[in-house]
Amino acid sequence: MPNPLTFYDNYTRSLRPFLPLHAGGEVGLYTCGPTVYDYQHIGNFRTFLFEDVLKRVLEWNGYRVKHVTNITDVGHLTSDADTGEDKMEKGARRTGKTAWEIAQLYTDAFMADMKRLNLEDPAVLCRATDHLREQIDFIADIEKNGYAYRTSDGVYFDTSKQKDYGYLARLDVKGLEAGKRIDPGEKRHATDFALWKFSPPGETRQMEWDSPWGKGFPGWHIECSAMAQKYLGDYFDIHCGGEDHLPVHHTNEIAQTEARVGTRLANFWMHGYFLLSNDAKMAKSAGEFLRVELLIERGYDPLAYRYLCLTAHYRGQLNFTWDALDAAAVALDRMRHGVYALRDGGAAKPDAAQIERFTNELNDDLNVPRALAVAWETLRGEAPPAVRRATLLAFDRVFGLGLAGWEPEVVAIPDAVKALAEARQKARLAKDWAEADRLRGELHAAGWEMEDRQDGFTLKRRN
Ligand code: AMP
Ligand code: ZN
Repeated sequence: MPNPLTFYDNYTRSLRPFLPLHAGGEVGLYTCGPTVYDYQHIGNFRTFLFEDVLKRVLEWNGYRVKHVTNITDVGHLTSDADTGEDKMEKGARRTGKTAWEIAQLYTDAFMADMKRLNLEDPAVLCRATDHLREQIDFIADIEKNGYAYRTSDGVYFDTSKQKDYGYLARLDVKGLEAGKRIDPGEKRHATDFALWKFSPPGETRQMEWDSPWGKGFPGWHIECSAMAQKYLGDYFDIHCGGEDHLPVHHTNEIAQTEARVGTRLANFWMHGYFLLSNDAKMAKSAGEFLRVELLIERGYDPLAYRYLCLTAHYRGQLNFTWDALDAAAVALDRMRHGVYALRDGGAAKPDAAQIERFTNELNDDLNVPRALAVAWETLRGEAPPAVRRATLLAFDRVFGLGLAGWEPEVVAIPDAVKALAEARQKARLAKDWAEADRLRGELHAAGWEMEDRQDGFTLKRRN
């Protein structure tokens, strides 16, 4: 029997056995999605890849998963302190398109990149702008329960009303209040946050709605509380996002849901740690913008990036380098060729002992790097080829590297090259080494490499 599934839960700061809230039912999984004011960078995708693998590991353990993810297409301000501009309106100005057009453009780009990285589609992909009713109702309940107040620019959540506000991130709320560095304006406490913002007086925003409080738009955090509750209920199994969400976004999601229904939203809170670039935070504004598209332009298979992410545990940061991506591309290529070479062995069942070892690694808080090591051992092991192949293809249900369908590229060999190779083969058989060497030189010049075999030869393109 494999070890039970355990995950590190950031709410309790402990490794806990995963037991679904509804035995026999679906596991509810909510993952914070992209803000669609620009392309997503490969750092964002590191988090989405971790979440995809998490979902696959739950399925590997026999659970059915209802995965919900959101598209933030309104309300995410350039500053977490509820000041600054809405990222969507800013993106619209930058591109000369409308906020609605850029939302669509970057949602489509996100979905295309998801496919390229072999991320499974969520069961529900929900846009904030399609859920205004739910968000307004949510805020109205928070207000009714006494957790909200109005200022001249919006409706705010009063964090002082909750004793355990900030518990998820172990926030030092008193210290933050005492050391306020920014003028909170009419906000009563440093940690209070916007539930609804009014459109600036005299200005028509591209995205604005009527509400009981006045024309405006929802704060960023309310969309996740509202949509998670709508699709997964008051209390569901797992909520994920990147590590940056701990102190503000997820802290505030919990505060809102607690104020409305009294739960902390999810049983497990799991976070993907950051991808760094040159050991620094990856930002869309600074330096090279690392997108999946750029990897493709530079000749990489996007799945090499997926492989790279599998080599690092999700609870540690990972520094991106092109050398590391090269190494991942080589490893992926070897694994693909290795599995392909085992294809003619017929049908077989996976190796039960290796499956158990693999499961134990995954169940130990998603130790995917060690699960990969089990895969390499299996590939190089002694079991019959068909058994090894069946085992590796089973593992790939979690890795998602598309090993089953992979085939080496068939390269057409020009007739002139074939003729040269045949002439060289004849010379070699006749032990005319000078002529054989001369013809090899000609093949090289034409960009081809000839490998002699006992029963003939093979031709390969020279790198
Ligand atoms: P955003 O589009 O900014 O809302 O972010 C989408 C997801 O990417 C969120 O879960 C973030 O926490 C996550 N994220 C942002 N930057 C990084 C990074 N450098 N590495 C890993 N995840 C990130
Ligand atoms: Zn969210």
